[in-house]
Amino acid sequence: MRSRVVVLGAGFGGLELTTILSDAVGDAVDIVLIDKSDAFVFGFSKLDVMFGRRMPTDIRHPYSDIVKPGVRFLQSTVRSINPAARRVVTDDRAFEADVLVVALGADLDLSATPGLVEGGNEFYSITGALALREALPRFETGAAIIGVTGKSFKCPPAPSEAALLLHDYLTSRGQREQTEISVVMPFGTPIPPSANTSQAILSAFAERGIRFVKDSLTKALDPGRKVAVLSNGTEMPYDLFLGVPVHRVPQVVVESGLATDAYGWVPVNKKTLETTFPGVYAVGDVNGVGTAKAGVFAEGAARVVAAAIIAQLRGGPSPEAYKGAGACYVEFGRGQVGRVEVDFLSGPKPTGTFQEPSEALVAEKANFGSSRIRRWFGQPLQ
Ligand SMILES: Cc1cc2nc3c(=O)[nH]c(=O)nc-3n(C[C@H](O)[C@H](O)[C@H](O)COP(=O)(O)OP(=O)(O)OC[C@H]3O[C@@H](n4cnc5c(N)ncnc54)[C@H](O)[C@@H]3O)c2cc1C
Repeated sequence: MRSRVVVLGAGFGGLELTTILSDAVGDAVDIVLIDKSDAFVFGFSKLDVMFGRRMPTDIRHPYSDIVKPGVRFLQSTVRSINPAARRVVTDDRAFEADVLVVALGADLDLSATPGLVEGGNEFYSITGALALREALPRFETGAAIIGVTGKSFKCPPAPSEAALLLHDYLTSRGQREQTEISVVMPFGTPIPPSANTSQAILSAFAERGIRFVKDSLTKALDPGRKVAVLSNGTEMPYDLFLGVPVHRVPQVVVESGLATDAYGWVPVNKKTLETTFPGVYAVGDVNGVGTAKAGVFAEGAARVVAAAIIAQLRGGPSPEAYKGAGACYVEFGRGQVGRVEVDFLSGPKPTGTFQEPSEALVAEKANFGSSRIRRWFGQPLQ
């Protein structure tokens, strides 16, 4: 009988895992890939949409395009997970698995920040990016704040990227002189594991007159008075608030017992990504392995889990331990992209190396996206 692998979530982690398994052992496994959405969207595409650099229809990669040996995609919402029995219930039907991989990512909780829904914007969901595409042209004068509202959030460079791209956007419209841009971040530097990357971002901010407010969260907005209230009680006036919402463990994962609460990311064995339940793995943003939350780390985790499943099926040595290493591209604006490579788990503390912004890295980032779409979906990015 074919081995039954059930993968919950078709994001960076789920797609990478499914692709490797199909390529290597598609003849020996029955993989069910489940996602509530009908299409994949790269996180970074949200920046492209909000600043009008790409059309919303161009960033969607429909799951119906996936045709891979051994893989069935099901569009359905996961309603319950029983990790002890490796049993999952979706809106459509229930599944039992020999190996269960939870790759459901992090959910956004806008209501955790009072005033955000009523008086602010966010750029972390497609809905938020689309709303900003409409709202940004109306921002002509005053103060813009890019504010992080929770300590653990996806893609730590994204708030800085949003600020640098907002600078370009306002400059191109002749409105930069009558506007201010501030970035409110919970860290002392923009990218704590890499001093060089942080320095390059801070220099770019200084050159463009962007203010960096360190070690602070935006705890609430007061839409009536148009002020953002920071974690230390300071109030900052705003005319445009671009928020990074509070991130939380998806409720279905909390209810499964895999996580203790909404902010207790799923504990896993750091080397294998296995949870405390045998045969149940957690990859990507949903786990608490200790990396930043980014697609490249989800992908790396998926590779380790795929190798373990292949070794189990085909025999052979155990895979190498997960290293928590990966490279992220950083938009610097002015048509330039930098790159930071971070290793979170090999040494006693995370280390990072920086590659200066260049036009060559713009092309490399585009290839990062298109090569994944080709591998995961079997077709090039348009
Ligand atoms: C603005 C922005 C820019 C970013 N830039 C980068 C970047 O440049 N590089 C990078 O590496 N990362 C970047 N990221 C981060 C990256 O998008 C995430 O870290 C990555 O997608 C995490 O992968 P994942 O597989 O863990 O989860 P996800 O990709 O979030 O996938 C989880 C999937 O689970 C599905 N799901 C959730 N709950 C259910 C349910 N109950 N039932 C069924 N399906 C469900 C969701 O629909 C989703 O498709 C960025 C993110 C943002 C917001």
